[in-house]
Amino acid sequence: MPEASFVFGEKPIRIESGDGVHLYDDDGNAYLDFGASYACTPLGHSHPAVVEAVQEQVAELTFVQGSYPVDARDGLYERLGRLGPGDCSNVWLCNSGTEANEAALKFARHATGNSEIVAATRAFHGRTMGSLAATWKDEYKEGFGPLPGGFTHVPYGDAEALAEAVTADTAAVILEPVQGEGGINPAPDGYLQAAREATDAAGAALVFDEIQTGLGRTGSLWACEDAGVTPDILTTAKGLGNGLPVAATLCADWIAEDAGSHGSTFSGGPVVCAAANATLDAIVEEDLPAHAASLGETFKNRLEEIDDLRDVRGEGLLVGVEVKRGANRALRSLALNHGVLALPTGRTVVRFLPPLVATEEDCLAVADALESVVG
Ligand SMILES: *Cc1c(COP(=O)(O)O)cnc(C)c1O
Repeated sequence: MPEASFVFGEKPIRIESGDGVHLYDDDGNAYLDFGASYACTPLGHSHPAVVEAVQEQVAELTFVQGSYPVDARDGLYERLGRLGPGDCSNVWLCNSGTEANEAALKFARHATGNSEIVAATRAFHGRTMGSLAATWKDEYKEGFGPLPGGFTHVPYGDAEALAEAVTADTAAVILEPVQGEGGINPAPDGYLQAAREATDAAGAALVFDEIQTGLGRTGSLWACEDAGVTPDILTTAKGLGNGLPVAATLCADWIAEDAGSHGSTFSGGPVVCAAANATLDAIVEEDLPAHAASLGETFKNRLEEIDDLRDVRGEGLLVGVEVKRGANRALRSLALNHGVLALPTGRTVVRFLPPLVATEEDCLAVADALESVVG
C-alpha cells in the first residue's frame, strides 16, 4: 500500500477513474468509495445510464437559456413534480445545494412577507451568504460578516424551544431531517411533526434541507416521509445528477404562487437535467430507497458488533460511527491499509455515505476494515 502521506499529506491520492462503488488511483490501487464524494454518486461512478444520457444530450444540445422549453428540462420538472412530497410539485432548478437553500429562504420570505428564519444548532445549509447565516458553526462564518440578519438558532431536537422561537414574524423554519455535517443526528421522534405544527400555527414555511438525506439515502425517497411530515419547501442537490451539478428547490403551491423574482443563467441546463432524469429513473426503477433501508440495517447491525466504537447512528445508508481516538486517524488507516474511503464529520465521527447500489458484501468488508482499524 502507498505511504501515509499519499492520502492526507502533501501528496494526495490522484484519482484516475471510477466504476460503480470503486475509485482507482494512478498507481492502479482500488478504493471502495464509502464517502461517494459527499453522497454525490448514488448510482456509483460512471453509471452507464447517466453516461449515455449525458453523452447524447451534450452532443445534441449542450445548452440553451431557460426561456426556451426543452425536453430534458421538462422531463426533470415532471419527475421532480411527481416525486416531491405532498404538493411540493413546483420546481426551481439550480446548480448547487447552497443555491437551492438560498432560493428556499428567498421564496419563504417573499411568500410570507416575513423576514425571520429559525434554524438549528449544528445545522449545515451551505456557504453562500443566506445559507451560511442559517448554518450553525462559527468556523464557517469567521471573517465573512456581516451576514444577512433575521436568523436565530435553537437546539436541534428540542421541540419546545422551536415552538417558542416561531412567532408571527417568522418566514421559515429550516431543518435537516437527519443532520449530516453536524455529526449524523437523526431528528428525535415527533420533532419534525412539532416543527410542522409550529409553522402551521404561525403561517410560516417549513423548509426541509434534504440535500444529504434525500433521494433514497435514508431508506425513503425523502427522509421526511419516514416521519410522515410534509414541508412547504424541500431542497435537494448532491446526488441528483449522480455527479453533475444540479439542484432543486421543490415548493408547495402557496409558496410558488408568491415567490417573487429569482433566476440563474444556468438554471435547468439540458445536460445536467439529462443526468438528473437518468439518475431519478434508476433510483425509482431499482427501488434504491428500499435497498438503502435494508442494507443500512445490515450495515449498522454489523457495526454495532464492533467493541471499540462509542456509538453507531443514522438512517439507511447515512451512517455515522463515533470512534474513540479521532476520526482522522481511523480514516487514514481505512484508506491506506484497507482501500476504504469514508468521510469525517466533526472530530470523532466517521461518516459513511456509500453509493445506494453498494452490496451487503461491500458493507461487511467496510465493517471488517473498521473493526481492525479501531481494535
Ligand atoms: C452539502 C450540503 C449543503 C450544501 O450543498 P453545496 O452543493 O455544497 O452547496 C447544504 N445542506 C446540506 C444538508 C448539505 O449536506
